[in-house]
Amino acid sequence: MHCPFCGTHDTKVSDSRLVAEGDQVRRRRQCAACGERFTTYETAELIMPRVVKADGSRETFDARKLRDGMLRALEKRPVSAESTEAAVERIRQRLRARGEREIEAREIGEEVMRALKRLDQVAYIRFASVYRRFQDLDEFRAEIDRLAQEPSFSPNDDEH
Ligand SMILES: [Zn+2]
Repeated sequence: MHCPFCGTHDTKVSDSRLVAEGDQVRRRRQCAACGERFTTYETAELIMPRVVKADGSRETFDARKLRDGMLRALEKRPVSAESTEAAVERIRQRLRARGEREIEAREIGEEVMRALKRLDQVAYIRFASVYRRFQDLDEFRAEIDRLAQEPSFSPNDDEH
């Protein structure tokens, strides 16, 4: 690795450790020429499969979209941001672990339903009742947005 200060090629690693729960390697390096120290991070690059939508079109997997859909189902529910984030990460790992180049949007929806079932029953029902009918995350989000604007929606669900 080139030294970012003087550009020389001769740098050596003085320390190497796992960070971010083992998903990343942090290396302390020192330049042999100018003596400057710097840090590099190494992360395995894992490609997510492409998403095949119900109409046959393809799109890049978007974790933010996945998270937004889950957060809407979990609105006003007693589930921590940490638990939600962990569930999103688990879904990503499961999708990646399939080793497929493409994955149907429907299958992602099924993974979300499985995750919500473990997190919160009300959120699961909210998601499932809407998603099963639409089979598409975009349509699902639009529907939840619409429902959320109806005053009777949330209070009734929160009585559980
Ligand atoms: Zn240098």
